[in-house]
Amino acid sequence: MVSKIFFLALLAYVFTMNADPTKYARTAKELFQKNKMTGLAMLGIGKIGWIEKPIPECGPLDALVRPLAVSPCTSDIHTVWSGAIGDRHDMILGHECVGQIIKVGSLVKNFKVGDKVVVPAITPDWGAEESQRGYPQHSGGMLGGWKFSNFKDGVFSEAIHINEADANLALLPKEIDPEVGAMLSDMVTTGFHGSELADIKIGDTVCVIGIGPVGLMSVAGASLLGASRIFAVGSRPNCVEAAKKYGATDIINYKEGPIEEQILEKTGGKGVDRVVIAGGDVHTFKQAVKMLKPGGAIGNVNYLGEGEYIDIPRTEWGVGMGHKHIHGGLTPGGRIRMEKLANLVVYGKLDPSHLLTHRFKGFEKVEDALLLMKDKPKDLIKPVVRIHYDDEDSLN
Ligand code: NDP
Ligand code: ZN
Repeated sequence: MVSKIFFLALLAYVFTMNADPTKYARTAKELFQKNKMTGLAMLGIGKIGWIEKPIPECGPLDALVRPLAVSPCTSDIHTVWSGAIGDRHDMILGHECVGQIIKVGSLVKNFKVGDKVVVPAITPDWGAEESQRGYPQHSGGMLGGWKFSNFKDGVFSEAIHINEADANLALLPKEIDPEVGAMLSDMVTTGFHGSELADIKIGDTVCVIGIGPVGLMSVAGASLLGASRIFAVGSRPNCVEAAKKYGATDIINYKEGPIEEQILEKTGGKGVDRVVIAGGDVHTFKQAVKMLKPGGAIGNVNYLGEGEYIDIPRTEWGVGMGHKHIHGGLTPGGRIRMEKLANLVVYGKLDPSHLLTHRFKGFEKVEDALLLMKDKPKDLIKPVVRIHYDDEDSLN
């Protein structure tokens, strides 16, 4: 019995560990012949490594996609190195991707092998009760639409399983290159959702707290929604420059004093109509409430990786009666949203390429990109990895 358990454990180890990313299949045919996929995984809290797994089954409504461009997210860093969603073992990371379809289920109507597609970070089950109530990002339970690199193998993999392909994938328009398209999966949709949650209206004065890639897209979203004055809070010079390109009118450095005081001073004590939170921590809400006008709204998309409670100051919250609305939400995913966001790029309203500061080539470079995201050098906004295949143009 003991030797049987040992043998099975050894088999599992050989099967999943020490995979060599440079030896991944070059063509879809080779990948299916091998019938195993390599991926960069979370092995446990604080540990990553390359593993091998069987290629997932492709159900009748599903698709399998291989990555053409992927990018690590700050959320992957919270997940692995802060253990923010709990421990995970041998779960392939990543949820930002443009890919190419290598297999489709028998009932998929709108996609075929060879199509280049945006893979959204959020891939709901569209028949779920939560989806029918208008919250597909919570299908199957809170945050349940966020599957990749949460409770399902993610996109840093040779083969990515997509549930309900017709509803969850969007064709990548030919005008958008895959590296730029990968920003639609999460950065654009999440940043914009912050602006949507803050309920920005034409002419509003807005403060965006945090101008990493997510906050930068909130600045762009605020501009598109018609904000007049946009305060952008951050310190890294690259991000500050990008914030100005996306429409920030004023820059606030949170390292130079409390941001609410700086904002109140610059607005003659009035504060702002809307606040988007895309950086900071559980204490940032205190500052946001203090700078918000009565009747205003806060939209949070920051992933709160630490702390038990969120700080809401009683007095500045109008002793409970200030009509200072606080919203926090996970971005929606889905095909229609991705198509609309892609159209913003195609028709020249949005250029996500200002986010791309570090470009890599080759699947094995995904690890370097992830570690770069962890170390966050000052000049980094977003790294992206392009993966080429010998059969990329001939696959059908
Ligand atoms: P970054 O770490 O790149 O950016 C964070 C920003 O916050 C930086 O501009 C940073 O300033 C600023 N900041 C840090 N500390 C403070 C502070 N105390 N007060 C004010 N500003 C501060 O993160 P990302 O843009 O990649 O992501 C932002 C958040 O969004 C993350 O928590 C991420 O996990 C989350 N996220 C949420 C998703 C969702 O669907 N809800 C999806 C994707 C991401 P500086 O210039 O000094 O670095
Ligand atoms: Zn993310």
